[in-house]
Amino acid sequence: MRRIITLLAFLFIFQSLTNFLCAQEKNNYIDVSDNLYLITNISGGNVSFLVTRKGIVVVDAGSTPSNGRKIISIIKSVSNKPIKYLILTHFHGDHINGIVGFPNDVKIIAHIDLAKNNASFNKKNIDNYINNVLPSYLVNLKLQMGEIKDKNSNEYLTLKEDFENNEEYLEEIKNIEFRNPDITFEDYYRFKIADERIMLEYTGSGHTNDNIVVKFSNHNVIHTGDLVFNGSIPYLINDHGVDVFNWMKTLDDLYKENIYTVIPGHGEIDEKIILKEQSDYFKTLSKQIEMLKNDGFNLEEIKEKIDINDYGLTGNENQFPINIEVIYTQLVSKGIEWWKF
Ligand SMILES: [Zn+2]
Repeated sequence: MRRIITLLAFLFIFQSLTNFLCAQEKNNYIDVSDNLYLITNISGGNVSFLVTRKGIVVVDAGSTPSNGRKIISIIKSVSNKPIKYLILTHFHGDHINGIVGFPNDVKIIAHIDLAKNNASFNKKNIDNYINNVLPSYLVNLKLQMGEIKDKNSNEYLTLKEDFENNEEYLEEIKNIEFRNPDITFEDYYRFKIADERIMLEYTGSGHTNDNIVVKFSNHNVIHTGDLVFNGSIPYLINDHGVDVFNWMKTLDDLYKENIYTVIPGHGEIDEKIILKEQSDYFKTLSKQIEMLKNDGFNLEEIKEKIDINDYGLTGNENQFPINIEVIYTQLVSKGIEWWKF
C-alpha cells in the first residue's frame, strides 16, 4: 500500500484512493438538523443532503462513480423523494467524480468556473491515469511479481494486493463522467425549495478559484467544501488558484455570522469554532514563516525548521511542506504584513 501512496499522493484528485481501496465500508448518515443529513464514511469530500417535501438537495457527489451510487442508495434509504439538485462545492475530483451515479435529470449547480476547471485539470489527470500512469504501474508490478519465486511470500502477496487494487481502481476511473452544471453563478445564487432557503456564495478564491459556501439558511448550518479541513492539513494548490489571504478572510467573515454548525469539506462535522481554527492554522503558520524569513532563512530552511507536530493535525501530512511553500510565496508576493488584517 505504501507504494500506491508514494505513487499517487502528489495528485490531489486521487487523495482518497487509499480510503477507497481499504475502507471496510459501512456507509451511513447522521442527522445534522431537521431533514438535513451528513453521509459518513464516504471516501472523498463530505456529502450532505436536505430532504424537502418537493425533493432532495445534495451537496457534493463523492470521489468515484461507485461512490456516487452509494450516496444515492444512502439517500434512498432515508427518503423516496426525487433528488432535484446537486450542488458542487468546487471542481476537485474527490467532490465531483461520483456525478455519474446521480439521476440524469438532477439539476447541477456550481460556480461559473467549475466546468472550465474540470476541463483544464481533472480531465487531463484522469486520461493520463487511464492511459499511462496506472497501466505502466500495473506492468511494473507484474514484472516484480514474476521475479518472486515463492508465490506465498508476504512480498508477493503484498504486490498482488497492490496489483488487484490498482486494476480495480483503473476500471473505476474509466467510468468517471463529468456533467456540465445546469445552473452556474458568479457571486451568489439563492433558491427556495418547499420551505427551505438555500444560499450559495462565492467568496473569492480560497482553496480553489471556484469554491463556494452552501448555507442552509433555515438551519444555521453551512457546508464549506474544502475551505475547512477539520483536523487535517489542508490542500493548497497554486495552479488551482489558492489564495490563503482571502481564504482566511472568508473564514473570519463566516465566523461572525449566525452559524451553529459547520460541515467541512473533510473531517468531522463540528460547531462553528472550526472556521476559526482553520483560519488560526493559517495565521500561526504564516506568522512562523514570516519570523523565520525575517531571520534570514530561505524557504528550504524554513521547511526544515517548522515542526508539523506543533499543529496537532493528522492526515495529509505530505501537504505540510507545500502549505509552507504556498504561504511563503504569497507572503513574498503580497507583502509581509498581509495576514494581519
Ligand atoms: Zn478540494
